[in-house]
Amino acid sequence: MKLLLIHTGGTLMMRGGDPAPLAPDVYTQDLINELPVLRKIAAIETKILFNLDSSNMQPHHWVELAATVHAALPRYDGVVIVHGTDTMAYTASALAFLLPGLDRPVVLTGSQTPLADVRNDARTNLVDACHLATMRIPEVGIAFNSRLLRGCRATKLDAWGMSAFGSPSCAPLAELGVGVQIGTHLLAPRQPEAFDPRIEPRVLAVRTFPGLDPRLLLGALTAGVRGLLIEAFGAGNIPVMENSLLPVLDAARSLDVPVVIASQSPRGSVDLGRYEGGVAAAAGGAIGAGDMTSEAALTKLMVALGRANGEAGAEGRIHAAREAFAHASAGEMS
Ligand code: ASP
Repeated sequence: MKLLLIHTGGTLMMRGGDPAPLAPDVYTQDLINELPVLRKIAAIETKILFNLDSSNMQPHHWVELAATVHAALPRYDGVVIVHGTDTMAYTASALAFLLPGLDRPVVLTGSQTPLADVRNDARTNLVDACHLATMRIPEVGIAFNSRLLRGCRATKLDAWGMSAFGSPSCAPLAELGVGVQIGTHLLAPRQPEAFDPRIEPRVLAVRTFPGLDPRLLLGALTAGVRGLLIEAFGAGNIPVMENSLLPVLDAARSLDVPVVIASQSPRGSVDLGRYEGGVAAAAGGAIGAGDMTSEAALTKLMVALGRANGEAGAEGRIHAAREAFAHASAGEMS
């Protein structure tokens, strides 16, 4: 078994803390020397792609990471990516959409405490991630706290506890106890596709709240937003009386800007037929994101719009988004 371990940054290889802030450190170069037990799992090659606190990750980093993984996969049995927890769910979701054909595992991991700390979760997470990357799991997953979660279903739920991630609408792909239990809902292996780096970062995500002034969103639309993700209430409801968002939907439609509606509720699904606010949003052209996480909906929209921008004779951004959200491409919705 041969694995590629790509370092992108995050707490796992940071130093500092108490009182100095935790910061990326150069000792990342020695990851395998720091944890030689990894050599017992597989022959592991390492690559330092970035060394960032993940709050500094940008869409172009996702594309570079995805391109690196895509180029490496034919030569390895699996890839492990060390990543900060803050934006790991975004990166995992983006990778799931940028790597539509996977026949082997791509496992992200990180930790809440650095490997250099005596009491740390880094060792277990890294060992688990490498172990899982040797298995027949053709998905982008997040290995954390003895579970493997589908990357495009995961979200960071805890900034303190060791169980940082959850995937409220999807059972874990694998659970690690004395042995490893693999779920029956894994995606089937898919033939890798040619890598397409196109992505549209000019997407705006806005959480509705009582008092949200629609004029702020109208201003954003005219400032160049190419796609709008509204994290609406409950089943996908938006205000339609005072401070109605319906004029925003009208303006978006006239600018060929797709509006996708996800839910602020971590569990359950958007159902735009259930309440008047949802019905009005659907009539205004909004696209429901089902039970997708906001991270998945946002990155899926960016990737879909990247394709739409690049295609000659394309039918437009709204059409491209509607097509993309009509079905799950990486197990991102039920
Ligand atoms: N701020 C860190 C990061 O996301 C947090 C972590 O790794 O847990 O890079």
